[in-house]
Amino acid sequence: MTATEAALAELRFHSGKVLVDGEIRDPLSGQVMDQVFPGNGRAVAQVARCQAEDVDAAVTAARRALEVGEWRDLSARERRRLLLRYAGVIEADRDNLARLNTLDSGVPLQMSSSFALGPDVVADMFQFYAGAVDKEIGEVVPVYPGRALDYTVRHPLGVIACITAWNAPVFLFGAKVAPALACGNTVVVKPSELGATATLRLAELALEAGIPKGVVNVITGLGPECGEPLVTHRGVDGISFTGGVATGRHVARLAADGLKRVVLELGGKSPCLVFEDADVDAAAMLAAGMVAYGMSGQGCVCATRAVVHESVAERFQAQVASAMSWMRPGDPFDPATLSGPIVSERQLQRVMSYIEKGREEGAQVVCGGRRLQEGALAHGFFLEPTLLAQVRNHMTPAREEIFGPVLCALTFADDDEAIRIANDTDYGLGAVIMTRDLRRAHRVAARIEAGTVGINLYAVCPTLPFGGIKQSGYGREGSRHALDDYSYLKNVYVDLNG
Ligand code: NAD
Repeated sequence: MTATEAALAELRFHSGKVLVDGEIRDPLSGQVMDQVFPGNGRAVAQVARCQAEDVDAAVTAARRALEVGEWRDLSARERRRLLLRYAGVIEADRDNLARLNTLDSGVPLQMSSSFALGPDVVADMFQFYAGAVDKEIGEVVPVYPGRALDYTVRHPLGVIACITAWNAPVFLFGAKVAPALACGNTVVVKPSELGATATLRLAELALEAGIPKGVVNVITGLGPECGEPLVTHRGVDGISFTGGVATGRHVARLAADGLKRVVLELGGKSPCLVFEDADVDAAAMLAAGMVAYGMSGQGCVCATRAVVHESVAERFQAQVASAMSWMRPGDPFDPATLSGPIVSERQLQRVMSYIEKGREEGAQVVCGGRRLQEGALAHGFFLEPTLLAQVRNHMTPAREEIFGPVLCALTFADDDEAIRIANDTDYGLGAVIMTRDLRRAHRVAARIEAGTVGINLYAVCPTLPFGGIKQSGYGREGSRHALDDYSYLKNVYVDLNG
């Protein structure tokens, strides 16, 4: 029995359901579709195929829950207490949630259980924002010419549509729902149609924690049938979206009609700059890990362009190839597996077409590039981690988000050229600077166009603001800055004359 077969025999989850107004039930549409596990290509669950009527039911439930005030009007102490309790039940369910994250995404269990992506960081997000609830302090504003008192307060936006990508269902739920709830909003979450079991479980845990029904709702389905009616629904006040650039642009256009507040967390083509004074072995390990370990390059902020000083390029490439050789993909449910499959057959073909395109345009495949179909991997969507060298920044694999285990290696001669290559992209999500020279690190960081810059490492933590510029989107998740995206500022003027 494979690790996946053993996990599937044990795992219990909601299949083909929605969670609306505190009730886990079939969709009103009566329709479901298969959820295919990327590790074995088989249907392992069903996903409800919601239509406009389900969207309406979920938004109506969220609006009712908002307007009765059981959540919005709670005292700061009570809302903090319930969010902390929610963090507690998420922690208690951590092993189950990690497994559901793997089931929904194919991301190996080791990564689904890690602090970077798993239930522990989501519990931390709820703790972090629970702590923020009773620290939201307004301002007293000087005002003239009359005698008056003027102050500001923050209010929830209302009902927030949280639309998430398939690659990190547990993490993305926390990143959106924790700050949204902390501000007093209610939410309708729409996870990717590729897998919804973890999202349903997280919403169920909200009920277990005592959060009133209707505050957290989950519907599922396809973008045009379920996502669009959600974005355009008159009862939705704000949208927090994570996904691809084209979808994000479309969502922003739809939201513009209702002038709705939008947060967009989109794709990336992040550079990893390796200077001649860097710890080249550490840089190679980091660069290989970003595309080969865990999510197999299917992470928005993965540094997929290694921009390396020409004097260390050869050594860097040899070390990357060596690291990639032992980061080979395997059964996602095997706790020893470091690297997982591609999410679908279609996406696998897409990734392979980028490798081919790179070859045609003059890149050299240093290692990888081959589909893995031996033994237990036969029916899954596995690809060898791939290093493309001699890549120039105008080539297709350097310009477009591949979302697979492919690292493009480019070279530079001096710092100005490194920065020019790093910024010569439509995206602006992240960048890593590998150098032992602190002055250079800060000098370069100041000139990089990206929402996150890592010096010798990246980190994920609820205290850090995360988000992009350019085609990577706008708005911030994490940190106290996320609270601004889920609330509006009200100014209150009090006449003191008379
Ligand atoms: P996607 O854009 O295909 O789908 C994202 C979500 O949008 C899904 O829930 C989908 O059903 C929904 N959707 C699709 N069409 C829609 C429409 N017309 N209206 C409303 N909703 C619609 O993206 P994906 O394949 O699930 O995820 C991969 C992408 O997500 C990559 O580009 C990746 O970089 C990005 N991503 C970004 C971040 C970040 O924080 N910046 C994090 C993870 C993933």
